[in-house]
Order: sequence, then structure tokens, then C-alpha cells
Amino acid sequence: MHSAVCPGSFDPLHNGHVEIIARAANLFDEVIVAVSANIHKTPLFTLEQRIEMAQETFSALRGVTVKPLPAGVLLTEFCKDVGASAVVKGLRGTHDLPYEASMATMNRHLTGLETIFLAGDGRYAHLSSTLVKEVHTLGGDIAESVPHAVHRRLSDAS
Ligand code: ADP
Repeated sequence: MHSAVCPGSFDPLHNGHVEIIARAANLFDEVIVAVSANIHKTPLFTLEQRIEMAQETFSALRGVTVKPLPAGVLLTEFCKDVGASAVVKGLRGTHDLPYEASMATMNRHLTGLETIFLAGDGRYAHLSSTLVKEVHTLGGDIAESVPHAVHRRLSDAS
């Protein structure tokens, strides 16, 4: 059985993330969405809320599970614990590559963990959690950019 991890803060999950995770689910028997407790900025949603929104979004997608990535735990150790041989990441464009490539190389040097990059669909290239939050806070409609579970929570919160 081949398992992969899709890590991120998902504060909140948006359709760019959803598309990459759905494509990863076509490639692997099992995909673990690892929701990071470690966020540099103050998160809009708690870890529990971010996990719940991801669970609701992926409940119908076979082979996808959602787990917390606890603070202070290296991604390579998390992958070992859950039995994943690869990390899957989406690239919004070439500007994502330098940082992502150095992280991928570090992880491979640490434990042999491989990273697979999927070219993000152009329809979502403009999406980031930060932009979604900003537009929503200023009263813009982000219904097209986020899954239903996230849209509902954002509407409830405002
Ligand atoms: P971070 O871990 O920097 O907070 P995010 O949680 O926003 O990043 O995203 C997690 C991962 O999802 C990123 O590393 C990237 O691989 C992927 N991703 C984010 N936004 C997009 C997008 N618009 N299109 C494709 N992939 C994306």
C-alpha cells in the first residue's frame, strides 16, 4: 500500500488545496492530509476547526484521511509514523519552486522521504489562504474559491 502526506496549515482550506489533494488521491492508495498546528501567524481557525473543515470536505473522497501535524514534530517523522513514503505538494507557479525544492531536498537527506510536485491547475493559481481571508474580511464573495464547509464557517464567523 502506497501512502502520501499532503501537509499544510489550511487556514482555511481552499479549492487550490482541494484540487491537489483530489489528484494525489488518484495516485496513491491512501492520502493523509496533515493539518499543521505550527503556524507563524495567529490562525483565523483553530486546529480543530481546520481539521473538521477538511474532514467534511474530503468525507466522500475514498482513501483520504485528515490528521493533525502536532507542533514540534518534523514532517519526516510524521510521515514515518503514518507509514507514508512521499509528500505531495502543489506548485502555483515557478515562484513556489525554490523554497519548496530546498525543503524537499532537506527531507530526502533526513530520512529518504520523497516529495512529488503537482503543477497546480491554472484556475486556482491565484488562490492562497491569506488572500481568501483578506477578501472575505473586506466583504468580497469567496464562494467560488473555497469548499462548502469552509464557506459556511466563514459566513458564520462574520
Ligand atoms: P503553508 O503550509 O505555507 O501555510 P498552505 O497551507 O496554504 O501553505 O498550503 C499547503 C500546500 O498546498 C502548499 O505547500 C502548496 O503545495 C499547496 N497549495 C497552496 N495553494 C495552492 C494553489 N493555489 N494551487 C496549488 N497548490 C497550492
